[in-house]
Amino acid sequence: MDPSSNSILLKEIIKELIWSVKPQDFLTYFRKMTISKLENNWVVFWVESGFMRDNLRHKFYDVIKDSTNRIVPETEYVDFVIDREIDTPSNNQVIDCVKEYKELTSKKKKEDKKESINDGVIKKIINQRYRFDNFVVWASNQLPYAACEAVSRKPWKTYNPLFIYWDVWLGKTHLLQATWNSIKDKYKDSNVVYTTADRFVNDYVSSVKAKNVDKLREKYRAIDVLIVDDIQFLAWKKQTQEELYNIFNLMYESSKQIILSSDRPPKELTELEARLRSRFEWWITVDIWSPDYETRLAILQEKAREREFIIPQEVAEFIAENTSENIREIEWLLNQIIAEYELHNTPPTLENVARRMNKLSITEHFISNVSAKRKKNKISYEDLIEYVSSHFWVDKKEVMWDDRRKENMIPRQVSMYLLKTRMNYTYERIGNIFSWRNHSAVLYSCKKLEQILKKNQDLHYELNIIKDKLWI
Ligand code: ADP
Ligand code: MG
Repeated sequence: MDPSSNSILLKEIIKELIWSVKPQDFLTYFRKMTISKLENNWVVFWVESGFMRDNLRHKFYDVIKDSTNRIVPETEYVDFVIDREIDTPSNNQVIDCVKEYKELTSKKKKEDKKESINDGVIKKIINQRYRFDNFVVWASNQLPYAACEAVSRKPWKTYNPLFIYWDVWLGKTHLLQATWNSIKDKYKDSNVVYTTADRFVNDYVSSVKAKNVDKLREKYRAIDVLIVDDIQFLAWKKQTQEELYNIFNLMYESSKQIILSSDRPPKELTELEARLRSRFEWWITVDIWSPDYETRLAILQEKAREREFIIPQEVAEFIAENTSENIREIEWLLNQIIAEYELHNTPPTLENVARRMNKLSITEHFISNVSAKRKKNKISYEDLIEYVSSHFWVDKKEVMWDDRRKENMIPRQVSMYLLKTRMNYTYERIGNIFSWRNHSAVLYSCKKLEQILKKNQDLHYELNIIKDKLWI
């Protein structure tokens, strides 16, 4: 078959994959590839590295096969082979998946933008990034999360009306917009409106001025789900409250879903009309309090991962320990760190992050605390090897024993390296664990891994995931 048509097919397959694989996974594991063989019912992909091959084989086999199948229907098997020549400039069949991803998603963004202009104000104020799956849940926000999630699955049937109150910057808007996004994903034709109380006020005031309040009422009457954020802004606006109250009543009586949020509990909204207040009291209300240390850490890591940025564990812990309880501050810091890295190429270290936070003086105390904590939470070497092996989809016994197969090498080197650098094992002790290798073999493995890590950002990323999971 003509090789250029292969690359056209591959492009189509990659397009399918982009929508089927999580963005962060796609950007981590899918790099340069070509189709080397397209015969009978086989499709063979040439890929950039062993790391890519192993991950595609183990983690993404089914989804790749399905996507290939959609483009080349007779496909029954797919396979992956490393191509050392993939970077040769004359190789014009190569598709760089990351580049492809960026092009495709920016095209989509532009289309979305166009659409949103036609679609009026609503879509413009919705942030597509606010989703349930990137909302970190902790004990005290579990209830509002679960309530919103339930409502998004079955609007009109579960918690109606739903009223969420919660301190500023703790994720109300994220949750409300995630609900919007999720309902829109499931019920494409539904009329879901997200608005804020001050927008509602503006709408109302201009319709009064234009003498077409009826039109406004018509508009809201046609809505299936109405989400109003920040209703604390309605305080003092008596007439608007009255109008909103009428709209709520109408909607509620015809079983339409209403979701509200405020940064004050209903009892504190003393300025609001008594009528409105009493309504709120019998609606389902859920409240929330601040995230604890573990959650702040999880939020930071989630946000960093979303931005495909690696934060060293110590730095992440330091930030989580020393930020107040609001998430904006964590996000602000992360943005600063990323900007510093992108603009000046300065990676985040404990020292420069502490300086930025004006907390340089407490780093020493922090470091001694961290090592004490690590000692307390100590996991065994067996746990570590077990986890590393399962992370790389290999068998723990083979990693520990003298098995020379290639797929066991990286997991073995990673285990040794972590035992040495994070758990302070001596080379001798590590040698004993790994079927009595001598200490220089262990030293060699650790150095080798360090070299690989310098060049291989993907593996670096994997290592950080493992460290996070094991809390080491
Ligand atoms: P609020 O509306 O309560 O003032 P936001 O929804 O604007 O708060 O949240 C502030 C920022 O913090 C947003 O960027 C949001 O994505 C993030 N955030 C808040 N809570 C969470 C959470 N539980 N998980 C992930 N991100 C969160
Ligand atoms: Mg908000």
